[in-house]
Amino acid sequence: MKKALLVLLAVAMVFSVAACGNNAAPTNSEAPENTAGTADAVTYEGTYTEPLKMGTNAAFPPYEYKEGEEFCGIDVEIATAVAEELGTTLEVADMEFDSIITAVQQGEVSFGMAGMTVTDERKEEVNFTSSYATGVQVVIVTEDSAIATLDDLAGKKIGTQLGTTGDTYSKGDYGEENVTSYGKGADAVIALKGGDVDAVIIDNEPAKAFVAENEGLKILETEYAVEDYAIAVAKDNATLLSDLNKALEKLTADGTIDTIIAKYIKAE
Ligand code: GLN
Repeated sequence: MKKALLVLLAVAMVFSVAACGNNAAPTNSEAPENTAGTADAVTYEGTYTEPLKMGTNAAFPPYEYKEGEEFCGIDVEIATAVAEELGTTLEVADMEFDSIITAVQQGEVSFGMAGMTVTDERKEEVNFTSSYATGVQVVIVTEDSAIATLDDLAGKKIGTQLGTTGDTYSKGDYGEENVTSYGKGADAVIALKGGDVDAVIIDNEPAKAFVAENEGLKILETEYAVEDYAIAVAKDNATLLSDLNKALEKLTADGTIDTIIAKYIKAE
């Protein structure tokens, strides 16, 4: 009973994301104009009478995070726009990153969207939509660190977020015994500040957010891996996959996706 209640509480309807990101980043006036009014209407295969449920890990700014009780971020806003495009609303189910693919496979959520990198291993478990964003695995160290390159990581203690590509790749490259996996990226950053690990390998945008929030940290200029983010859908849900791709295509063409990304990521 208690467990069922907790699951219910973790699922929240997203009624409005208008307040999200207001103090995080100003709207970029350079963003492409939204020409939705002139775009052709798209026909979707499915009928969406229930809200779409997005499985995510809301500890990955600026893609998904919480402002008070509200779910915010690029993925949340894109998914909200996609749901609206399909004639329904969005619910967010917040869970460990490591649980998302299973939740998608078991139909507990309609899709997984969590700055999730497309990999061959994951493609065996779920289908991916076309990619809507690029991610880069980077290395965070303390400002006074002697680590300056990827080679310097050899033999050092590395912190990662469990089940992420940064976690899998670094275990392969630097040895499992040298990698400590944390449930949340923020906990890996706390471990770095406390001296428990010497470096954290994580996606670039959350890395920038963590470094901005925590004094004394920096990101190495060397990129560890460049990746594509996409939405994960159950293998047996070809209709939803096709409709999500159509909706993403439309929201890309009319500038909605660029506008959302520009709201959270300032042009460099
Ligand atoms: N992009 C990374 C991955 O897919 C991390 C995603 C995340 O932590 N939300 O593994």
